[in-house]
Amino acid sequence: MISTQEESKPVLLVLGSERALPEFLVDWVQQECERSQQNFRIGMLDAFIPIPDGHMVVVLAPHDNPTMRDHIQDISTHVPTLIIGHPEDRAFYPEASVWLDLTHMTPHVLRHGMAELQACIAGHLRPLLPRQTWMLQFRNRIKTDKQIYLQLVSCRWRPAAAGDSAELRFATQQSFEHQLRANAPEDAMIGKLLDDQFVIISHNEKALSAHWLHSFADNMSFLWTAFLSSPVKLDGYDDLGEALQYCVREIEHSRMMQSGLGGRSLNHNDSGVVQDLVRALRGKEFYLDFQPQFDTSTGIMVGAEALLRWLHPNLGIIPPTTFIRDAEMAGLIRTLGSWALRETLSTWHKLNDQGISLRMAVNVSFPEVADPDYADKVLALLEEFQVPAGCLELELTETAMMLDASVSLRNLRLLKQAGVHIVLDDFGTGFSSLSHLSDLPITGIKLDRAFVTPLSQLEDNSKQMHIVATMLDLAQRLELETTAEGIEDQNCLEVIHALGCDRIQGYFYAQPMSVDKLIERACVSEAVLCDYSGQQSLF
Ligand code: C2E
Ligand code: MG
Ligand code: MG
Repeated sequence: MISTQEESKPVLLVLGSERALPEFLVDWVQQECERSQQNFRIGMLDAFIPIPDGHMVVVLAPHDNPTMRDHIQDISTHVPTLIIGHPEDRAFYPEASVWLDLTHMTPHVLRHGMAELQACIAGHLRPLLPRQTWMLQFRNRIKTDKQIYLQLVSCRWRPAAAGDSAELRFATQQSFEHQLRANAPEDAMIGKLLDDQFVIISHNEKALSAHWLHSFADNMSFLWTAFLSSPVKLDGYDDLGEALQYCVREIEHSRMMQSGLGGRSLNHNDSGVVQDLVRALRGKEFYLDFQPQFDTSTGIMVGAEALLRWLHPNLGIIPPTTFIRDAEMAGLIRTLGSWALRETLSTWHKLNDQGISLRMAVNVSFPEVADPDYADKVLALLEEFQVPAGCLELELTETAMMLDASVSLRNLRLLKQAGVHIVLDDFGTGFSSLSHLSDLPITGIKLDRAFVTPLSQLEDNSKQMHIVATMLDLAQRLELETTAEGIEDQNCLEVIHALGCDRIQGYFYAQPMSVDKLIERACVSEAVLCDYSGQQSLF
């Protein structure tokens, strides 16, 4: 054990827990400590318990050792701790000052983590609660204290950060989170919903109402624009989900206003992106790839999801996550969405001509379904293209459905009545409770791949497995069709199959592909099945 008198400034303890730390990690830490002139000691966890006050700890958490987990949890509640561990163990360490994912460790990631840890010990940073635990902790706090305010922070990465290297993107996110944690009111609890969405509760309405979080407009080195809802007092709401939705709606509204649909004009850089998008639409630079979906029990291809791509003349293929939000903000998503729908319906005909019958799924954004005429427009297109309503599926996220619920839910109800399939995409990542499922006009749910892909490494009794099983069970009881996306290996497929999910989609079977490849693939699958007289399943 190290005594506090031994050193005049805080000491960093770098600890292995079951096995000694890997050498590469020790080398990185050593380099970092030399750079920041930090004292450090390396050893095993047991040897350093109890950790003296004023120290901070870097610890490598073992994957499957409940006793060690208890030790580490105990330490992280007492001293600033950077925990390096397996991604699925994140939820076990809500008190960690900094969490690093072992599977994505680089010197760069570690450097950021260490800088954050330093800031924590200086008392400048509030902890950031991970998605898996924030709701639970917030609810606990709210139970005893309703005189508290909630604020949603949503951020949009500048094109320079969004389109550039993964490293710059990561650094931008870290830097944003740092600002958030450093500037939030002192009593704030901060939860991270998504990479770009955060939620805050605090008593300090005044501080939350001030301009407390800076963006690109304040400092050009910040590669983000932050949108903040006004603080809402929680005692006016029965349910945390409802208060959140109020905030989401407000933020979406201000984003729309900023996009020029409703008021303020875009700044110079944004208008560059908009011009690029308009040019791309005119120049037919967008195209669709299709990712097949299979029936889990037979292995037959039963559907395909249309996924938008942008073939940029200078930058090459740009994935949709990079530009969909820009298109939404610029008011161009309706045009883009209606182009994608027409293209998908005409693809259905191409496939049908080859004797292939698939249900075609299209992703739909909030501004599309918030258009009061949306249902009529979709039904008119089905008529124009002579595609049966049952061959079309619309995928929406919970946020998209709920933001302007009176209009969007009406649209979805009309479409569902007409026979169009409506699927809740990225299920499990939204805001509302599972009980809201029965109120939504949907025909199915699509489990987010954040839940599905890790299943391949879990044991039967792991918490995450129970969560997925419960979600599937509930959906089945509500007679909703279930799809799992993100199946990346045989293990995962077997688990999903055993849990009774109806449909699967993922790289293990097929990546998104061109229409020609889709036709080829559908013909091969049919041939395999015929050869084996219908007894063959693809796994
Ligand atoms: P999404 O609807 O959840 O689409 C699934 C995404 O997961 C796709 O990424 C797909 O390529 C990816 N994926 C599928 N299986 C696997 C797997 O096994 N492993 C991994 N790692 N990934 C897998 P993509 O094509 O980059 O699309 C991202 C998102 O962009 C979509 O998420 C959807 O929200 C949005 N998007 C795509 N096309 C459109 C569109 O036409 N309109 C709108 N509004 N949004 C779209
Ligand atoms: Mg989708
Ligand atoms: Mg999805």
